[in-house]
Amino acid sequence: MELKRILLATGNPKKAEEMKRLLEAYSMQVEVPEEEINVEEVGSSFLENAYIKAQAYYERYRMPILADDSGLVVYALDGYPGVFSSRFYQHQYGGKEEVKTSKDDANIRKVLRLMQGIENRKAKFVAFLVLSLGDAGCWAKGECEGSILPEPRGSQGFGYDPIFQPEGIQKSMAQLKPEEKDLISHRGKAIRNLIKILRGGKL
Ligand code: IMP
Repeated sequence: MELKRILLATGNPKKAEEMKRLLEAYSMQVEVPEEEINVEEVGSSFLENAYIKAQAYYERYRMPILADDSGLVVYALDGYPGVFSSRFYQHQYGGKEEVKTSKDDANIRKVLRLMQGIENRKAKFVAFLVLSLGDAGCWAKGECEGSILPEPRGSQGFGYDPIFQPEGIQKSMAQLKPEEKDLISHRGKAIRNLIKILRGGKL
């Protein structure tokens, strides 16, 4: 099916910027909500939370909605931050971290603190997308494997990008240009998987 116009179910401007950039390459008109809906992400998986967000925005806006739920999975930390990625600093796992400059900074400091002395630094970024058309929908996934750096590097991107080194690349995700991140990122892969579903006529 061909989708011309889509509304992103997110209030995160950095995430919206990436999704817009990725989708506009497929000639889609991508809109951001006038008003962010405060959705309680009570699901226990990325897919569940993406579905909850897509439904909440569909109920309000009644147009094709694309929701992304994503995060960082660190193997040595039992999969945390995982679905708690955006608010890991205040999660009881590993103790709370004070917010000094920004939530992203507090999240990063907490991961680095918990990773002190741990040899296995393997991690991955995961993104689940849910497209809701009201009476139909589909989902797609993307992953990017890598490892946790000993300290932050770079200033591009957002979230945990400064401490994540994608596999096979000698830079942090935050040292990559936007178009370089899009080629390898979890979100880039998830969007390309979604496009395959739409173009493959499976919806
Ligand atoms: P969500 O809005 O609940 O899906 O939260 C996603 C959180 O995961 C963000 O606030 C970031 O902390 C983290 N995250 C997701 N995608 C990325 C990324 O591409 N780079 C860095 N951090 C990310």
